[in-house]
Amino acid sequence: MSIEQQYRTRAKELLASGEVKMVIGYGPGSTADRRRPLFITSPEECDRFVLDSACITNLSGYLVTEGLLSDGKRVAVFLRPEGVRALNVLAAEAQLDPDQIVIIGFDAPKGELKALQGSTVDDFTYLLAALKDVTPEIAGEQLLEKIEKMSPEERFAFWQQEFSKCIKCYACRQACPMCYCRRCIVDSNQPQWVNTSSHTLGNFEWNIVRAFHLSGRCVECGNCDRACPVNIPLRLINRKMAQEVLDSFNHFAGTSKTQEPVLASFKKDDSETFIL
Ligand code: SF4
Ligand code: SF4
Repeated sequence: MSIEQQYRTRAKELLASGEVKMVIGYGPGSTADRRRPLFITSPEECDRFVLDSACITNLSGYLVTEGLLSDGKRVAVFLRPEGVRALNVLAAEAQLDPDQIVIIGFDAPKGELKALQGSTVDDFTYLLAALKDVTPEIAGEQLLEKIEKMSPEERFAFWQQEFSKCIKCYACRQACPMCYCRRCIVDSNQPQWVNTSSHTLGNFEWNIVRAFHLSGRCVECGNCDRACPVNIPLRLINRKMAQEVLDSFNHFAGTSKTQEPVLASFKKDDSETFIL
C-alpha cells in the first residue's frame, strides 16, 4: 500500500473513532505541482487527501486558527519535520496544547516520500535533535554564500534592491506559522510604528523588524518566500539569523515543546559583552 493510501486510512480511522475532530492535510492544487490545505471532518472525505513530494507547505500555522482548539478536542495534521519544529515553538510559546495535536509525520528528502513514525511531538525529539547538526538545504543556498562574501556596502545595496520590490502585501506574514499575533505591529496606525506605504525605508523597516521577530523562532519551512509574489529570498535572511542564534546561544528552534524562547529568556553565563 502506498504511503498516501496508508495515511488516508489513518486519517479515516482517527475521525471514525472520534479521536480527532478534524484532519488537516493536503489536497490537489491549482497546478499539477501545487497542493492546497484540506480540512476534513468526516471519514468518507479522507480519500481526497493527497500526499507526495509536492506537499511542502508547513500546515502547523492552521492549528492556531482562533477557536479551533478552544473546545479541548484534538486535531490531526500532516507535518514534515520543520512542521513538528513549528509545533514545538507554538507549544513553548503557549499558543496551543501539544496534547491536542496528533501528528501524521512524513518527509520527502530529495523528492523521495517517506513516512515518519510517531504521533506526538515527543515521538519526534530524536529526529529534531539530529537535524541541528545537519543544516537542511534551502533554495538559494548558493546565493547566500555569495551574499556572505559581499562587503557590508554591497550587502546593503543587495537587500535594498530586493526590498525595493516589496509591495507590503504581508503574504509572508500570513503564511508563517510563527506570525500568529492577532494584531501585527504593522497594522497599528495609532501610533503607526511601520510606514504602510511601499517605499524603501518602510520596506526596510518591515522586513528587518520581521527578521528580528523571527530570530530564534524561525523553523526554515520556507512558507514565507514561497508566498512572496515578488520572489524576495526571505528565507536567506531567516537562515542567516538562525545561524547567528545557533552560534551565539547554541539554540536550534523547535527541538522540544518546553524549549525556552531564546530571546525572551536569559542564562547567567550568556555572552553579554555589550553590557558594561
Ligand atoms: S519565517 Fe518563513 S521560513 Fe521561518 S517559520 Fe516563518 S514561514 Fe517558515
Ligand atoms: S510577501 Fe514579499 S512582497 Fe509581500 S510583504 Fe512579504 S516581502 Fe513584501
